[in-house]
Amino acid sequence: PKDQQLMLVSCPQVALRIRPLNCTELEEGATVIAHKVGDQVVVLMDPSEDPEDPLRAHRSRERTFIFDTVFDQRASQEDVYRATIQHLVEGIISGYNATVFAYGPSGAGKTHTMLGMDAEPGIYLQTLTDLFQAIEETQDNMEYSVSMSYLEIYNEVIRDLLNPSSGFLELREDSRGSIQIAGITEVSTSNAQEIMQLLTKGNRQRTQEPTAANKTSSRSHAVLQVTVHQRSRGADLTEEVGLGRLFMVDLAGSERASQTQNRGKRMKEGAHINRSLLALGNCINALSEKGGSRAQYVNFRDSKLTRLLKDALGGNSRTVMIAHISPASSSFEESRTTLLYAYRAKNI
Ligand code: ADP
Ligand code: MG
Repeated sequence: PKDQQLMLVSCPQVALRIRPLNCTELEEGATVIAHKVGDQVVVLMDPSEDPEDPLRAHRSRERTFIFDTVFDQRASQEDVYRATIQHLVEGIISGYNATVFAYGPSGAGKTHTMLGMDAEPGIYLQTLTDLFQAIEETQDNMEYSVSMSYLEIYNEVIRDLLNPSSGFLELREDSRGSIQIAGITEVSTSNAQEIMQLLTKGNRQRTQEPTAANKTSSRSHAVLQVTVHQRSRGADLTEEVGLGRLFMVDLAGSERASQTQNRGKRMKEGAHINRSLLALGNCINALSEKGGSRAQYVNFRDSKLTRLLKDALGGNSRTVMIAHISPASSSFEESRTTLLYAYRAKNI
């Protein structure tokens, strides 16, 4: 089948970020149950198990998970960027692809990591600033141009966040077998600030509706696509010699439909989100299965998200997943499932 591809892959990097306890959690008397140990380990304690209970004494209340990198509340935005994405920037201008995912339940810190705030900009701005600077400093005989698009996938439908009135967009495969989004707005840009302005504008269009878990939980995957076109200078400028793509994805909240006590519409959204996150986990899992250079069959067909990212996840691409959790005892179940998902995605 077309969407099942044999490919040589590099192993995805999976990081974990634990945010600080928030005011609500503190007021409710929540305790910290997720602890970072060293650079790569997190220990999660089950708050429901009573250590004094002799019947349970033989059972461990702790579970340990290993990641490529673990960040706790002390990590700055810059720390996270430096350890996960910074090393991919050079590759993008040399024609390699890179994909960054923020994964986790609503309120765990995905948008903080990706977008951040003016005083603490996230991965978007840090990456784009470095990308434009790297292009500036490149000494080769190439002409570079950068374009961007911004879309969301909501209920398995793609919407252009830079032109929401354009309706639902379809995925097409071009003659070389690479995935195109028919009719998407692609804006040429020459600086990071311009992209940030477009992002902010696009975010106002993002499908964001209240659920029981979070007042402004995002029910869609937001995908920022930045393309670096490379042409040889002097000669025929219309001839493209290289193309590097960077995808930065703020995923929909991973909380399960049952836990947000949702009915009807929310329930259907939840099912779509679960399915696409499962498909993504399966793809990343398959990519990491044999670790590195061995060929693998990977199924991209199972969701719009994985179909869209088919080129980005395989081939000459680097993938980074940053999973997010709250450290609070009240979020134990969400944290446990998030750690299991991300740990499985890494497939150690
Ligand atoms: P999500 O996008 O996963 O739903 P957000 O990024 O919106 O979650 O985070 C929820 C709240 O927690 C926001 O107010 C955000 O500013 C805060 N927050 C998240 N991560 C951190 C962090 N590492 N440090 C400080 N505040 C954080
Ligand atoms: Mg968010």
